[in-house]
Amino acid sequence: RAKQAGGQDYCYFTDELTRDAVNRFQMENQLRQALLHKEFFLEYQPRISLVDGSVRGVEALLRWKKVDGTRVSPAEFIPQLEEMGLITSVGEWVLHTACMQASHWQEAGLPPFKVSVNLSARQFQQADLCRVVAKCLEHSGLDPAWLELEVTESLMIQDLGESVTMLNRLREMGISIAIDDFGAGYSSLGYLKHLPVNTLKIDKGFIDELATDVADAAIVQAVINMAHRMGLEVTAEGVEQADQLDLLISLGCEEVQGFYLARPMPVPQLEDWILAPKSYSRHLLPMGLY
Ligand code: C2E
Ligand code: MG
Ligand code: MG
Ligand code: MG
Repeated sequence: RAKQAGGQDYCYFTDELTRDAVNRFQMENQLRQALLHKEFFLEYQPRISLVDGSVRGVEALLRWKKVDGTRVSPAEFIPQLEEMGLITSVGEWVLHTACMQASHWQEAGLPPFKVSVNLSARQFQQADLCRVVAKCLEHSGLDPAWLELEVTESLMIQDLGESVTMLNRLREMGISIAIDDFGAGYSSLGYLKHLPVNTLKIDKGFIDELATDVADAAIVQAVINMAHRMGLEVTAEGVEQADQLDLLISLGCEEVQGFYLARPMPVPQLEDWILAPKSYSRHLLPMGLY
């Protein structure tokens, strides 16, 4: 404490700052090691249709498991990779790996579903993003119709004109675009009509209290109605409970993602899961999904 260290407040802050700097330095070194030693891998979380219970897609999620077995959350290390200027190469690896994987699944005869890949700010602002995406599609042989890119709204409105151009070019390639964490940013609704996207992914923050908070229910209902009138599809993120699922079905939401249905899984587990009978289908099907 500052007092114990001689009553000077700055000692406390200096210690804090030093600790932060040391931590950051350590993490940076560990991330460089991780790249060298291939400690990154992807997990895939299913996105499930509320229309027929089928798997409509999987979201690729980056994972880092250190050699000692500890896992670090992407929420922690992705901003760090971004700061270090490494996110574009890691992001390209994610895109490439996800496209290769999706292509394998199709060749293996699994029922077709989309793979969606998150883009970070730096990646989205990269002038040659389209070239990178085209290269991944070509190498993997994946039909662009089975690739979706997830971009956050705050990222797209940083430069609306540029974003619209980029999104149009990606759409022309046959890829679909989802707005991730919709509603969680500080952006206004006005820009939405300018953005050529296919899907809104409603942020988990609105789903958590959906069954108990009237305001959240009203917001989710409004977003679903608005999206549909604009010709967009809606995915609800972070569905953890049966009553949230019931409400989403009654509100006309067509797709859900969340621990209640399936967690993110490594490849072998996902493949088993896809082929296995679903524990949620007993809950879903009696609802008479339209
Ligand atoms: P996101 O894109 O919104 O991904 C969804 C996150 O919600 C994932 O966290 C997923 O595990 C979690 N999730 C899904 N369903 C539930 C649920 O029912 N309950 C709870 N509590 N969580 C749920 P994860 O994997 O930790 O990723 C966090 C964020 O890191 C992602 O949020 C995304 O913004 C970023 N991220 C992950 N992989 C990548 C990547 O390859 N590239 C980039 N640029 N960002 C990534
Ligand atoms: Mg996402
Ligand atoms: Mg999200
Ligand atoms: Mg996110």
